Amino acid sequence: MRICHLYGNLLNTYGDVGNLMAFEYELKKMGIDFKRNIISIGDDFKANNYDFVFFGGGQDYEQSIVKDDLLKKRDELHKFIENEGLFLAICGGYQLLGKYYYNADGEKIEGLNIFDHYTINQESKNRFTGQIKIQVERFNEICLGFENHGGRTFLSNNQKPFGIVLEGNGNNGEDKTEGFIYKNTIGTYLHGPILARNENLCRKIIKIII
Ligand code: GLN
Repeated sequence: MRICHLYGNLLNTYGDVGNLMAFEYELKKMGIDFKRNIISIGDDFKANNYDFVFFGGGQDYEQSIVKDDLLKKRDELHKFIENEGLFLAICGGYQLLGKYYYNADGEKIEGLNIFDHYTINQESKNRFTGQIKIQVERFNEICLGFENHGGRTFLSNNQKPFGIVLEGNGNNGEDKTEGFIYKNTIGTYLHGPILARNENLCRKIIKIII
């Protein structure tokens, strides 16, 4: 299993690297070998070199640092997604897969524009913070996590949410959607880390690619 930790040295809020620790723990139990690389600023990302791409969350500051480099990786990331690679993007990473993100200071950060969702900020620099519980139809699981985001994300009509909010705020605190899913790409606001707190989900996503 070839794992890419996208900007792993920059985007890693609230222990998001724990997703990779949980993922690798499950792989070990299944007897599957793995190799993890950090692909960061200036590094080449090649779609065919990886089975799983993990893109963690970030502070507004780190998101603004990676945004230009990210655009250079757009075509290969798009190819990876269309080829049904397993891609998990959390919070800041999820925001950057969409059209744009207006950060807490009202600055616009252009996203990859691979997906149609967009993210605006909240009134008075408010944040959605706390425990969150969602129903995930694709994997038939109820998942738990922790959210902490200033952004409010809205999906387009042709995007499917990853989950439906049972408790907490999710994408925007209004429409009960949480994250999005397309082929084997998941964007979600759930820190936790989500794969450590939801073992079944972790095993089920590994099974997609083995
Ligand atoms: N900076 C973004 C926000 O506040 C993402 C936060 C995160 O990744 N935890 O919405």
